[in-house]
Amino acid sequence: MTSPNLTRDLPRPLLELRDLSKVYQEGQQTRAVLSNVNAQILRGEFVVLLGPSGSGKSTLLNLISGIDVPSSGQVKFGSADLTSMSERNRTLFRRKNIGFVFQFFNLLPTLTVLENLRLPLDLNGITGRIAQSRAADLLEAVGLADRGRSFPDRLSGGEQQRVAIARALVHDPTLVLADEPTGNLDADTGAQVMGLLDALVRQRGKTMVVVTHSADVVDLADRLFLMREGTLREVLKDEAALLSTISEGVTGVMPS
Ligand code: ADP
Ligand code: MG
Repeated sequence: MTSPNLTRDLPRPLLELRDLSKVYQEGQQTRAVLSNVNAQILRGEFVVLLGPSGSGKSTLLNLISGIDVPSSGQVKFGSADLTSMSERNRTLFRRKNIGFVFQFFNLLPTLTVLENLRLPLDLNGITGRIAQSRAADLLEAVGLADRGRSFPDRLSGGEQQRVAIARALVHDPTLVLADEPTGNLDADTGAQVMGLLDALVRQRGKTMVVVTHSADVVDLADRLFLMREGTLREVLKDEAALLSTISEGVTGVMPS
């Protein structure tokens, strides 16, 4: 008799990180930045990555997006194995499947807001009217329909980050990665921007990984991971020590 397939109805992970290690070579010296990182992230999850400055959070996002490759281990994205792809194929894969939001917005200053939004579409070969209407739809979704012809430096920080959110979603990626997206905004603006990002990502059924130090973002998350000295573990929201550290905003989990 065969045993019942108990895993059949479980949601399949979008991301599987298996025994990831990253070692940087600096001259004669090696620096181990990640060691034996394992995690699974399900489709539609909003995951927050916490940890002190220098613990390896951005390095891990770079491995998830295929910008960088691990020294050992495997990154699986759906059925694709990023670690076995050429750099060129990783780039094409990333353009299509991932949207990014950065701490410093990273909008191109010489392009208008609408031109910035069309860039991820151009890179995926989507042009003309379809591109125009997708860009306009996303701009409306972030409440900036009337700013399409403005240049980024005419916008406030919060508005620029809303444009960046639109840019991260305009090509309909599967995964959104955000590295300290509220780090350069005041607390109220940061909370508004995160509320918007959360709403848009959930409406569209996207998966999201956010690096943050903000307790507001932690509240919105489905699951939390803590990076410390290159090792990753899942933590619970009500883990008392974690929450007290967040509210103090000091050493340990949160960078000063
Ligand atoms: P976090 O995002 O958590 O602040 P990072 O992932 O940026 O941390 O960096 C983790 C560690 O790896 C730091 O000690 C940093 O100096 C080091 N590091 C990052 N990139 C490189 C690199 N290209 N070469 C050498 N060391 C690096
Ligand atoms: Mg970082």
